[in-house]
Amino acid sequence: MRESPHRTFRTSSNDETVELGRMIARSLPKKACVLLIGNLGAGKTTLAKGIIHGLGFAEPDEVVSPTFTLIHEYGGGRIYHIDLYRLDKPEQVATLGLDDIFDRDAVVLIEWGERFPELLPRLRIEIRLTAVGDDERQIAIKTVL
Ligand code: ADP
Ligand code: MG
Repeated sequence: MRESPHRTFRTSSNDETVELGRMIARSLPKKACVLLIGNLGAGKTTLAKGIIHGLGFAEPDEVVSPTFTLIHEYGGGRIYHIDLYRLDKPEQVATLGLDDIFDRDAVVLIEWGERFPELLPRLRIEIRLTAVGDDERQIAIKTVL
């Protein structure tokens, strides 16, 4: 496994994390698996709002957590936002048809996907979010292949 050096950012508000998401969107390939990794409340969904807005597929307010719906699609299949929090067995995840989604020319954002590494493409971008205070977040990005 090879890893690129981390790029690390700090944000001190919700809005700054959305803005960082828009910036990240500018450097994403059209087809990518992006893992959003961090505890509940770390800001994964907030960052996804910025990325999806930055790619031009929805307003930030239109992006809501897929915790219960599991998969949200934007731009007619150009972007997917997935949350696997409520699943705990690989067999449950296998019923979602993720392979089909990974085959598309789409940016696939996944919360809690790192719990099922065997079901993910080998090449992926990992974004790790850590709360370092009430409103401070450290956000580290690396590419794994
Ligand atoms: P997750 O999807 O990781 O569970 P959310 O993005 O849904 O997290 O929620 C993050 C929470 O933390 C929100 O309530 C948000 O207002 C709050 N918050 C405070 N500071 C920040 C920040 N710098 N970046 C992102 N969210 C922040
Ligand atoms: Mg979330």
